[in-house]
Amino acid sequence: MGAIITIANQKGGVAKTTTAINLSAALGQTGKKTLAVDLDPQGNTTTGYGIKAAEKRALKPTTYDVIMGETRPVEAVRKTRFKNVWLMPSTQELAEAEIRLLKFEHKTLQLRKALLQIKDDYDAIIVDSLPSLGVLALNGLAACDSVIIPMQCEPYSLEGVAELFATVKRIKKSVNKSLQIMGVVFTMTDKRLMVNREVMKTIRREFPDDAIFKTEIPRNVKIAEAPSHGEPIVYYDPGSKGAQAYASFAKEVLKRL
Ligand code: ATP
Ligand code: MG
Repeated sequence: MGAIITIANQKGGVAKTTTAINLSAALGQTGKKTLAVDLDPQGNTTTGYGIKAAEKRALKPTTYDVIMGETRPVEAVRKTRFKNVWLMPSTQELAEAEIRLLKFEHKTLQLRKALLQIKDDYDAIIVDSLPSLGVLALNGLAACDSVIIPMQCEPYSLEGVAELFATVKRIKKSVNKSLQIMGVVFTMTDKRLMVNREVMKTIRREFPDDAIFKTEIPRNVKIAEAPSHGEPIVYYDPGSKGAQAYASFAKEVLKRL
């Protein structure tokens, strides 16, 4: 049975999408059948997997139709050109779900219901969440077995994370008893920056050892370039530091599954 992992952090721009794309691509490369679910109306995972803007506008069905219960999930999934990776894309339309879901009785459980139908078809399902703790993001947390939290080591990074941990605890108590935090992964690290090192030290001190992944993802220009080529970094430039980091991160995730 497949493991569902949600990449979450309500702070924007911390590399959720980059991690979702490259973790799913790297898992695919190791032979795991993997589905990437785009749960963000920005649709960055969709673009990053090579769907161009013009095509994106006309995409149907998408995560929106699935979460609204209007399409069977299997119909919204398409094969990407990358080994063992499928994609449930999203578009701007998904923003409407944030409001429309409110009238549902079980408004946080729509994604969970849908993914349970296809869970057995994959070894891993990676959900790219959005920078919010609204109802869409709660769907992402309610749907998964475990959460990965990308964190950029900056002075404000810890503030949001406490709130995220509290939210995970609440979801675990109410609708998703088996929910676990798999770990925090440091992203865009730059050892030359004093502030980076300081924050990292503080966090490592405050968290239990196994709460933080050993692999750190370094700041690497190739990672930033890859999305505009519609390719995960592990394909765009496999020899780059960024690609190597995501490949070893995927191995660490597999060990923790
Ligand atoms: P949002 O909250 O808007 O969904 P996000 O958390 O998904 O953002 P990303 O879109 O993955 O964050 O990353 C933010 C920006 O940082 C992007 O331009 C991305 O290319 C860049 N980036 C991410 N990781 C790295 C890295 N290791 N090195 C260099 N640039 C990176
Ligand atoms: Mg994103």
